[in-house]
Amino acid sequence: MTRKIEQSRKLQRRAEQMIPGGVNSPVRAFRAVGGEPPFIVRGAGSHLWDADGNEYIDYIGSWGPQILGHAAPLVVDAITNAARNGTSFGASTPAEADLAEIVLSAFPHMQKVRFVSSGTEATMSAIRLARAYTKRKYIVKFEGCYHGHADALLVKAGSGVATLGIPGSAGVPEEFTQFTLALPFNDTDALEQAFKKFRHQIACVIVEPVVGNMGCVPPARGYLEGLRAITERDKTLLIFDEVMTGFRLAFGGAQELYAIHPDLTTMGKIIGGGLPVGAYGGPSEIMDLVAPLGPVYQAGTLSGNPLAMAAGLATLRHLKEHKKEIYPRLDKLSGELAAGVALAAKEAGVPICYNRVGSMFTWFFAPCPVTDWNSAAKSDTEAFGRFFRAMLENGVYLPPSQFEAAFLSAAHTEEDIQQTIATAKQAFALAHA
Ligand SMILES: *Cc1c(COP(=O)(O)O)cnc(C)c1O
Repeated sequence: MTRKIEQSRKLQRRAEQMIPGGVNSPVRAFRAVGGEPPFIVRGAGSHLWDADGNEYIDYIGSWGPQILGHAAPLVVDAITNAARNGTSFGASTPAEADLAEIVLSAFPHMQKVRFVSSGTEATMSAIRLARAYTKRKYIVKFEGCYHGHADALLVKAGSGVATLGIPGSAGVPEEFTQFTLALPFNDTDALEQAFKKFRHQIACVIVEPVVGNMGCVPPARGYLEGLRAITERDKTLLIFDEVMTGFRLAFGGAQELYAIHPDLTTMGKIIGGGLPVGAYGGPSEIMDLVAPLGPVYQAGTLSGNPLAMAAGLATLRHLKEHKKEIYPRLDKLSGELAAGVALAAKEAGVPICYNRVGSMFTWFFAPCPVTDWNSAAKSDTEAFGRFFRAMLENGVYLPPSQFEAAFLSAAHTEEDIQQTIATAKQAFALAHA
């Protein structure tokens, strides 16, 4: 297959005249991998079609939300039905408590949840709340973890930022990040030292329990338990940022998979079923500090939007009802795919190391093991770029950055997996020639 790119190229040039880089989120510009980003005109199940008529097997799934595949009929119906009754009222609708109920059923440590419109808003609000609850200033995050683009969190923030080689971001005064401590992931000693130095001053530790934003990096055995114990000891809130992992690694997210209860949880992506929704939640004692009950201000014109609630509700109901089949199948197919491609690399003499948890995975063009940002950063991003472009050229759409996790959806088939492995074999053979 030779990919046609004429239309996508035209659309990109047109967009570039009006939108910075032609994109509304930087990674879409393909700067880290080169080549022409396809303009997508349609998705169905596990496949996408671009403006030139090329078809792709998709492993991005809108960066996570599309766990049921693109244009899942039950989600499209839910959105359509909701839209007929009006798209936004700025007043409460019954669907908000419906979505809250199913979210709370998935996360037993949460008694209350507040919906926002993005993951960025969710983490920003959770941190504000943690600072208010503890009356402390410092926050701890980990190198390579991304928690959205709020000022205080744009420190050593993984994928998008790392890919572009920007340590933080221009436009963020040092004073705004002076209370942000960035520590290496999977390093309990570093955390102990920070807690010694800033005793009773750390409001919260925010973590991606399985990191997706430096590529997929799982927690080392006992690491999350250590985080829980250390934060509890110092009365610091532990925030699991499950924007990516929530409803993906298990219906109850990473905290179900690893059996750890954080104090606050942030969510996004799948919770909106492909529409813009984020959420943060925890025990009532903490959540009741949020306005109008308490002094922590947080609001949103389109928060709890009826279309978004309908899409989220349809998605979560389906996942909950079929979780016994969906999650094991995602795990099995993802395992086949991740290992199959790694084997193809090995046979071609291309050194790669892969990490996978459930339906999140990354092939690092790096020495094993990849356990934190420093080891991920050893990746040969040129080699990844060649692999990425060869896959795209032959109908497989992977995340356009070495430092992003790929995702499987429930719509992917055994045939998709086998075709992808065959495509990878070709790609590695080419790389070797
Ligand atoms: C995607 C992501 C965010 C940001 O969510 P947006 O909806 O893009 O603002 C925050 N945290 C994690 C872990 C994410 O993967």
